[in-house]
Amino acid sequence: MQVLDGQALAKKIRACIKEEVQRIVQMGKRPPGLAVVLVGDDPASQLYVNMKEKACRQVGMYSKKLLLPADISEAELLDNIGALNEDEKIDGILVQLPLPNGLNEHIVNENINEDKDVDGFSPVNFGKLHLGIKGFEPCTPKGIIRLLKEYGIQIRGRHAVVVGRSNIVGKPVAALLLRENATVTVCHSKTENLAEYTSKADILVSAVGKPHMIKKDMVKEGAVVIDAGTSKVDGKLYGDCDYEEMVDKVSWITPVPGGVGPMTIAMLLENTLEAYKRHVLKNTDSQ
Ligand code: NDP
Repeated sequence: MQVLDGQALAKKIRACIKEEVQRIVQMGKRPPGLAVVLVGDDPASQLYVNMKEKACRQVGMYSKKLLLPADISEAELLDNIGALNEDEKIDGILVQLPLPNGLNEHIVNENINEDKDVDGFSPVNFGKLHLGIKGFEPCTPKGIIRLLKEYGIQIRGRHAVVVGRSNIVGKPVAALLLRENATVTVCHSKTENLAEYTSKADILVSAVGKPHMIKKDMVKEGAVVIDAGTSKVDGKLYGDCDYEEMVDKVSWITPVPGGVGPMTIAMLLENTLEAYKRHVLKNTDSQ
């Protein structure tokens, strides 16, 4: 068994981004900018937002954090997003999900300028992903594909089974695996006899959020296991897959923590840098 070390790869990617941002600033240009919007005070969301803001500053990007009350109206929230769409220092906008009850995330995502949608959740970017047109790819799925490629794992022609069908992880990762020419099966909570599918996977991607629900007897000998799930139980983080139990059976596996999570943040920075380049280029072209 070998470990797919997301922590190490993310560190390498962040270092490259940092160098590029330094070069940009040394040329006298403004740094790329990311706005992170947090609505309400959910502790897990606060933690994620702080991690993203810190990662942004560490690579020398400009970061703006907007903390909005949970009882904000949809109109007010959209006004704030509208202002960020217009803000010349901001290249990427991320609204931390889930939103408090009463706020519709689809409407919010629809209102983020597609060129600043570094999370890739707007209908335009989501559509582009499925059409095979270049847009912003959601960070966790993009990070998963990068991890597989970096470690030289063949995707083409292999049977990939994705457990979970959310718009954030499951569906987009399935679309990306399909684009890489895997044969893809998507499972979800209504799937009957999950093990029948998972045990046939050459590449198994789990994005459910139920600690250790995937056991050794549910995976194929020599499979590649990507565990995006994260659940906290008594302060300890667990993946969906029982890592310790299956390490000797699989060929590659991501640890939790230290696998998919760090890659998500690295891809967010990469998308922000990409958004900056498009933004600067667009402004140069229109002059
Ligand atoms: P959601 O709750 O939106 O989706 C969970 C999915 O799992 C659903 O599609 C659901 O099916 C499916 N599911 C639930 N129970 C079962 C079951 N018993 N068998 C098979 N499928 C099941 O979660 P997210 O996609 O947002 O997140 C999934 C996990 O990934 C979470 O642990 C989250 O914390 C983690 N995550 C990690 C990130 C990272 O950077 N590491 C980033 C984003 C998420 P159905 O559609 O039928 O309800």
